[in-house]
Order: sequence, then structure tokens, then C-alpha cells
Amino acid sequence: MNPIRSILIAGGGSAGWMAAAALASALGTSTQIMLVESEEIGTVGVGEATIPPIKLFNAMLGIAEADFVRATQGTFKLGIEFVDWGSLGNRYFHPFGSFGADFDRVPLHHWWLRERGRGDPTPLWDYSLAWRMAVHNRFSPPSSDRRMVQSTFDYAYHFDAGLYAAYLRRYAEARGVARHEGKVGTVTQNGETGFVESVTLEDGRVLSADLFIDCSGFRGLLVEGALKAGYQDWTRWLPCDRAMAMPCENAAPLTPFTRSTAREAGWQWRIPLQHRTGNGYVYSSAHLSDDDAARLLASRLDGKALADPRPLRFTTGRRTRAWVKNVVAIGLAAGFMEPLESTSIHLIQSGLMRLLGLFPDRAFDPLLADEFNRVTAQEWERIRDFLILHYHATGRTDSALWRDCAATAPPDSLATRMAHFRRDARLVSPGEELFLNVSWLAVYIGQHVEPAGWDPLVHARGHVDAKARLAGLRRVTEEAARAMPTHEAFIAANCAAG
Ligand code: FAD
Repeated sequence: MNPIRSILIAGGGSAGWMAAAALASALGTSTQIMLVESEEIGTVGVGEATIPPIKLFNAMLGIAEADFVRATQGTFKLGIEFVDWGSLGNRYFHPFGSFGADFDRVPLHHWWLRERGRGDPTPLWDYSLAWRMAVHNRFSPPSSDRRMVQSTFDYAYHFDAGLYAAYLRRYAEARGVARHEGKVGTVTQNGETGFVESVTLEDGRVLSADLFIDCSGFRGLLVEGALKAGYQDWTRWLPCDRAMAMPCENAAPLTPFTRSTAREAGWQWRIPLQHRTGNGYVYSSAHLSDDDAARLLASRLDGKALADPRPLRFTTGRRTRAWVKNVVAIGLAAGFMEPLESTSIHLIQSGLMRLLGLFPDRAFDPLLADEFNRVTAQEWERIRDFLILHYHATGRTDSALWRDCAATAPPDSLATRMAHFRRDARLVSPGEELFLNVSWLAVYIGQHVEPAGWDPLVHARGHVDAKARLAGLRRVTEEAARAMPTHEAFIAANCAAG
């Protein structure tokens, strides 16, 4: 064994500091870990909504939730409310957690469809505890007792991305990570192998390492700049390529969910934090100018703007190979998908977990990089399909973007899944993936992808009193939501930033 002796992380945004914290926690001080970042270049600085697995990342680092939420002006997130996506005036919720609890071997939604077919108007969402909590602005952590309805939801956080990076920086530096301020000027590669040997900062300092983690953001300083990993462009399915971000003052109440509102040329996010609300308009530059995006966003805020609109540009897609030779790209350096389902910070986390699972020695057996790249491609493409579903399954015809999206053929992988659902509401999956059946179900039903029927087993199982079971679930779900403290009260009692 020739263990890795030193690691250089290039970049100190969320990705760089998440990498530093995770590596320092896993490797201790046996390995020298350095991070270089440039205040002058700065960070993307958005990235405020997360999904439930982030709790595992924090737990792995041994971070206490209340301390973390307080330090990042955080709030709790039960899911995403989608407004005007399937059609104008339409609203639905992508909840974290399930729709009720299965009471039969046939999944609940088939029974719900059967009852709906018989005239029951109850929306599917009345069985989602996360949604009922969202409606009443309630929050309390889930129960670990699987027999309780309170165990049927999950949660994540909204937080200030700058404070999050600062929090992780304190964590990493306390565990020996050495930060270097400065701009990387040149990258030196071995003449024979092409492996990166060092980076030279503009002031002449040279930083050498065995392993390099490229967290330099969209530019992909090492993985693309030096190693030419290649990029797969997904703009034909996900046409948005710009965002305008603009925080504003909070408006009461403090909602425990992200809101995504479809707009004429993209969509607008609304992310409530303790000290402000994050807003942004993600749009297609082929359908809207930057000036119009800024003007429209400013006119659609809940409260007084706290900053000028901040423009961001991106190309949706992924790096063809995220791991090349001794460089592993994490974060925006590995690719970008719009924050429609808050997946970027998660992809940082899963990239780091994968790296630790395939951690190399100095031989850098290509088998490791190949496996890393294979699983990464799969993970990204499955998320991509889920995002495309939101754009493709629309009945909106009021603007060119939505007409174009509805008319664009989805990838075959997505078309097959949709065909199964349209046939008899079956939720099929190509294998392990981030978004599980409940997520797909929420978007299908929420955006009017109507199944022609339901599981034929329902007909064979006439003895199941689904009507009574569904009514019981509805009742306990509503009662459980109303019994919880408000989101604001929960934060005030446990983790107010002060
Ligand atoms: P960056 O933040 O760009 O950091 C790059 C780092 O590299 C910086 O420290 C920079 O100084 C350094 N650097 C670059 N070049 C050099 C150089 N030559 N020398 C030295 N240092 C250098 N994610 C979510 O999970 N949820 C969201 O709600 C969400 N919303 C988003 C909204 C928008 C509009 C965008 C664009 C992204 C959003 N994201 C979201 C993604 C999230 O912001 C990023 O995944 C996250 O911030 C990680 O960024 P990063 O650290 O890879 O890159």
C-alpha cells in the first residue's frame, strides 16, 4: 500500500468546505489536507434548499442539529410546493415522506385511484403528513416508531449558503485542514502520466499533493482546464441556462417548505430562512432577457428587496468523467442541474461518500475511477429524468418555453417510466436512485399525468376495506399535524439564531 499522503482541495465554496470537512473527519490528521480559495473570485453563494439525506452528512460529521440550524440561520423543509407547473392555477406538493402508510400489499395510491374513480374527491395530498404540516405551518421532528403516523414524513433544511461554508470551514480548520488564500494560476502535470503534480498560485506559491479535489465551480479548473474531461450538455431537455437571485425581507408566516412557481420563461424559487427569504428566477435566455428577468423577479417578491439582482449563468449537464487520473471533481466542477429539486448539495455529499467508498492509494488503479464515473453518470441521469418530467408533463400553452418543453421528446428512459404510469399507475424504476416512488407519484399526479387504470390486484382484493382505511388515515394525519407546534415556535424554542 502506498497511502495518499496529501490532498489539495481547489475551491472553497460549499463543495470545497464540505469536502474538507468530510475528508478531515474520515482521514484524521494522518493525511495532510489543504484547501485553496480566492476571495476575489468568490463563490456562487446560492444553494439554500436541501433534501433529507443531508442529515446523514451532518450526522457523519457529528454535527448537532440545533447548533447547525442556529449557525446557518436555518429553517426546516418538509418538501416543495409547485405552483402553476402542470397548468396555470395548479398547485401540488412534493413531500418528504410517504402518502399515508400502506395498509395492503397494493400500494396506497392504487386504492386512492379506485376510490377517486368511484367519486371520492379527496386529493392524494390529504394523506401526506408533510403536506398537512405545511398547510398549517407546523414542525416537529418525525417519530422513530414506525407504527405512528408521525413517522411517515421526513425533513431537510433551508440555510444560508455562505454561513454553511463558514460553519464547515471552522469544523475543518479545527481538524487540521490548512487554508490558503490565493488564485491558482497554473497547473503542473507529469510529462509522462498527465497526473497533476501541483498548482502554482499567482503569487508564486506552489502547492503539491497526491490527490486533487476540484471544487473550483463551473470553470472546473483542474478536471476540465487541465485534464479535458469533457461535458455532456443537457440543454435540449432542460432549457434554462440563467438565474437571477435576489433576497428579500421575510413575510409571515415562516413556511416550512420551498416554493417553486412556474413563470413565463422558467420558474421562481422562494426559500424562507430565519433572517431573510431567498428568491431567484431560473430562466431560459432564449425566451427572456436578463433585464426582464431582473424586473419580473423584483416585482414578485414577498417583502422589501435586500440586494440588487445577482445574475448567474450555467449550462445544464455533467462532466463526462468526474474522476480523471488523480483529480476528482465535486460540486459545480462536476456539472450542474438547476435547483428545481434541490439536488446540487446532495450531489456534493454523494460524490464525497462515493470517493470515500472508493478511496485510492497512490497507485490510482483506473478501476476505481471507472466505477466512480459509472455510478456518478447513473445517479445524475436519473435525477435529470426526474427534472425533465416537471418540464415535459405540462399542459401550459401560454408561453413559448412551455409549448417547447411539452413538445420535446423526453429521453427513452423517462418515456418508458411515464408509459408504465399512464397504463396502470405503476411506478417503475431502473434501479437505485435518489428520488423514490413517492416523489415520482407526486409529480405525475400533481402535473396531470393521468393513469388509464390501476393495479389489477385491486380487483382481486375486494375484501380490503380501503374506503374505511383511507378515511382513518386522513383523520389521524390531520390530527397529528394540528397537534404540532408552529414552525416558528419550534425554531424559537430549539434553534433560533438570535
Ligand atoms: P462555487 O461556489 O463556485 O465555489 C468555487 C470555489 O472555487 C470558490 O471558493 C472560488 O473562489 C474557488 N476558485 C475558483 N477558481 C479559482 C482559482 N483560480 N483559484 C483559487 N480558487 C478558485 N444547490 C442546492 O443544493 N440547493 C439549492 O437550492 C441550490 N440553488 C442554486 C441556485 C442557483 C442559481 C445555482 C447556480 C446553484 C444552486 N445550487 C443549489 C447549487 C449550489 O449553489 C452549489 O452546488 C454549491 O454552492 C457548490 O458550489 P461549488 O462550491 O461547487 O462552487
